Formats: sequence, structure tokens, C-alpha cells
Amino acid sequence: MIWFVGAGPGAVDLITVRGQELLQRADMIIYAGSLVNPALLQLAGESCEIYNSAEMTLDEVLERMRDGNARGLEIVRLHTGDPSLYGAMREQIDKLEELGIPCQICPGVSSFCGAAAALQAEYTLPGLTQSVIITRAEGRTKVPEREHLGHLAVHGCTMVLFLSTGLLSHVKRELLTGAYREDTPCAIVYKATWEEEKIVRGTLGRLPEMAAENDITKTALVLVGDFLGDDYELSRLYAPDFSTEYRKGKDQN
Ligand code: SAH
Repeated sequence: MIWFVGAGPGAVDLITVRGQELLQRADMIIYAGSLVNPALLQLAGESCEIYNSAEMTLDEVLERMRDGNARGLEIVRLHTGDPSLYGAMREQIDKLEELGIPCQICPGVSSFCGAAAALQAEYTLPGLTQSVIITRAEGRTKVPEREHLGHLAVHGCTMVLFLSTGLLSHVKRELLTGAYREDTPCAIVYKATWEEEKIVRGTLGRLPEMAAENDITKTALVLVGDFLGDDYELSRLYAPDFSTEYRKGKDQN
């Protein structure tokens, strides 16, 4: 059995309990060495075989899995954050299915949740925005034309940009063609939940400088939107006059 496990955003204790138990039980761990906190590997048993996929191709990863499975090993494929986002997991699952090797997935805390926690922010604020766009700027990996930032920018909702720290002039230019303004609040969160975590706050007009002045070139998320500002409405759910299945609203007269 292959378990795809989300390692969480960085802090060792932000892996799930299930993920932790899977690491402790594993006979083989293949971890995404570019971003997974290596301290997590200390959870592994003495005899566990450990491989860093950052140095391997897809075929080499699959060969390790095939070999381990043939030897009856419990295998963990450890991905950063949650494996469903920019994790290159699907191509592995499909190949494993072709090989007749069963797999399961243990979710993880994505870095975009770690970044919100670091910022003490709520992405969906009443009266402001009820949507979060998770995307990336186009780099070596192509983004479909209909999802180019200029198109997505028409919504002006909360935007979370992965893998885009090196492309911030482009991000700024594209977002300004839509509903975002020079003074739309932004934040860059470098290594959210790691000890080296760094938070830089500013506005879209200065986004490229915010990264440059703080030497942030990778392992960061860019958050854009008025959710980082001061204005919002109180929720209806907790309003005194709002009735729910659990609480009868009080008359406000
Ligand atoms: N599956 C991962 C994302 C992998 S793509 C997740 O759910 O978080 C790798 C990108 O994620 C990085 O380039 C960076 O943009 C972002 N990232 C991953 N961990 C991060 C962290 N701790 N802090 C900030 N950004 C992070």
C-alpha cells in the first residue's frame, strides 16, 4: 500500500495525527525534499528506507514504489502542505493504478492555511468577499489562457498565489487590469509556520519591492485582497437577531 501523506506547511506538529502514525509505521518514505521539513523524518523507525524525490524523476519515484510494494513494504509518499495542490500526485496515482498498486491519501494542512494563521486573517469576510482564488502566475508551468491573472482579476476577491514569488511585476501588472487597485492590501508570507517564517505586508503597488527588499525569492505565498484591510461586516451567523437550528434570535426592539 502506498500512502500519499500531506506533511503540512512546515512546523513538525502541523502534520495530522493520521499522517504522523503513517510515518511512524512506514517501511519506506519518499519525501519531497525541496519543501518538506526534514525534522518530520525523525518520526520514522530505525529500519525505514528514506528517499528524497527532489533528486528523482517520476519514473524513478515509481520504480522505488514498485520495488517497495513487491517487497511488501508500507510506503509513505510525503508531499508538502496538502498533496491536492501543486503536488504532482495525480500522475503517480494513475501510474500506480496501471501497475495494480493500491494507494490512499491522507490530507494535510496546506500552506495557504498556514499563511492565514500567520497573518491572523480570515479569507472570507462578510460584505467584502466570499470567494478565494487559489492560483499561480505562469512560469515554466503553463497556465490555461482563460485562467491568466488578468482574467481572474475581474472578481477582486481574495487571491492566493502559489509559486509566483519570482514573477511579482507581472502579477502586479495583471491584477491592476482587473478589480484590484494600487492600494489593495497584500502580504507575502515566507515559510509560513517554519521558524524562519517572515511576513511582509504592503499594497499591490509595491508588491515587487516588498519581496525584493526582504530577499524573498521562493517558498512564499502572495496574498492579495481587501480581506487584509480594516473594513468588513459582522457575520449574520452570530448576530443577536439571527435564528439558527441551534439558537433562537432575540428581537432587536
Ligand atoms: N501542496 C503544497 C504546495 C506545493 S507547491 C501546499 O498545499 O501548500 C510549492 C509552493 O507552495 C511554494 O513555492 C510556495 O509558493 C508554497 N509554499 C509551500 N509551503 C509554504 C510555506 N510554508 N510558506 C509559504 N509558502 C509555501
